[in-house]
Amino acid sequence: LNRRLAEFGTTIFAEMSALAARTGAINLGQGFPDTDGPEEIREAAVRALRDGRGNQYPPGPGVPELRSAVADHQRERYGLAYDPDTEVLVTAGATEAIAAALLALIEPGDEVVALEPYYDSYAACVAMAGGTRVPVTLRPHEGVRGGAADRRYVLDLDELRAAVTDRTRLILLNTPHNPTGTVLTRAELTAVAELAIERDLLVVTDEVYEHLVFDGAEHVPIASLPGMRERTVTIGSAGKTFSFTGWKVGWITASPELTSAVRSAKQFLTYVSSGPFQYAIAEALRLPATYFDALRADLQAKRDLLSEGLAQAGFEVYRPAGTYFVTTDIRPLGDEDGFAFCRSLPERAGVVAIPNAVFYDHREAGAPFVRFAFCKKTEVLEEAVSRLKRLA
Ligand code: PMP
Ligand code: GLN
Repeated sequence: LNRRLAEFGTTIFAEMSALAARTGAINLGQGFPDTDGPEEIREAAVRALRDGRGNQYPPGPGVPELRSAVADHQRERYGLAYDPDTEVLVTAGATEAIAAALLALIEPGDEVVALEPYYDSYAACVAMAGGTRVPVTLRPHEGVRGGAADRRYVLDLDELRAAVTDRTRLILLNTPHNPTGTVLTRAELTAVAELAIERDLLVVTDEVYEHLVFDGAEHVPIASLPGMRERTVTIGSAGKTFSFTGWKVGWITASPELTSAVRSAKQFLTYVSSGPFQYAIAEALRLPATYFDALRADLQAKRDLLSEGLAQAGFEVYRPAGTYFVTTDIRPLGDEDGFAFCRSLPERAGVVAIPNAVFYDHREAGAPFVRFAFCKKTEVLEEAVSRLKRLA
């Protein structure tokens, strides 16, 4: 293994899912739903397979049906108009989109500013591209009312500003944010946008949880802010929105120049993405608003169930405004090392979780935090909560 990758080892998701399988513990670690997406969309994939649509190499940029569905989705939801032929690219999940964008857009030695804790593939992809990551730490905040209700992770705009140097090429954003569940506000995003414009930076923004926002929170794509469309690569994925994480259908939307750059990298990573699923996701993106509302309502109820259960079990809970993860502080339980806690949790309580420290360069900043996924059946979450109450 080369020096660029040696520090990364096996992903925490593989390690913790293997631990769950080995111990039979409830897996609230890796984020994947335990219920598959809509039957009619599964049927659409079967139909595409049977009808011979996508069984041979589809077009490199993605099948036209999916590209136009992505463009319509961005226009109808956010008022963002993209040309499906020149400004949309289908990728093998958001993971490939992140890799292709970073490989295409940064030169060796360029600095990439990313919000810490960050999704684990960001660091590895920056490294593979020969770049240097510059983490800006989101800070846990008690909230103005000083209670659990509005406790959240906050972006310190002065820290962000200070992180930008003459070598900075791009800001890598993620909202709604994994693992903290923070949804960046319009005001925060406006400040990021102003900085990007002032320092002439690109923004790559991972918005895979765009539909998973709660309590009426608004997801704002930074590309929709003034002056940002031409300098932003927006990343989406069908995995989260339609509960098909195994299908690996993702996409980017960006200007023709940026899309063409990302396509240059993608063509040598996978060349094309899997065909029949693209046709099915084209139909999924056109599901009525009731689908998206029901998904949100279901996950919001599960967020509340797990957040309240974890609080009763003695955790300090950061109730998320978005995503399907809840971050907790384990110090009230008398623990302070999230890694050790997660490695012993299957034995102590029959549950698997993820130590947030893996998402940090400043490991000490993430040490006492642990993430639980709530994209699981209600009875599974209830059982997990009753097991976790044994810890108190
Ligand atoms: N970005 C974030 C923030 C994620 O949480 C995930 C899913 N774990 C991905 C990207 C990867 O998405 P996909 O499965 O579409 O590759
Ligand atoms: N996005 C999911 C998570 O954060 C799964 C990631 C993965 O398995 N690579 O848990």
